[in-house]
Amino acid sequence: MPPLPIARVPLDERWDWQLDGACRTADPTLFFHPRNERGRSRDNRDRAALYVCERCPVVGMCRDYAMRAREAHGVWGGLTEDEREIIFRRMDADCVPEHAAEAS
Ligand code: SF4
Repeated sequence: MPPLPIARVPLDERWDWQLDGACRTADPTLFFHPRNERGRSRDNRDRAALYVCERCPVVGMCRDYAMRAREAHGVWGGLTEDEREIIFRRMDADCVPEHAAEAS
């Protein structure tokens, strides 16, 4: 079995912003899709979670954390996991050294 990747959770000193998250009083099932959820059902759930994020006073801190942690699952900071995945791929592509990009 290959070794498991090391968690990339940032060692943030401040976590108290989470106490002000608008999702603390929202339905937690909005933010993470059930197994095999696809299509309109998934879009509707994501949209409902994003609506909560729009009203959240700590959306910037949440998004910053999710991006640094490379959170793969759920809606965080007003971004769906698909949206973050697109950003992560662009970030990874931008980090390819020039000589490696030329060789491919
Ligand atoms: S931005 Fe969204 S996911 Fe993050 S704390 Fe606020 S409501 Fe929760």
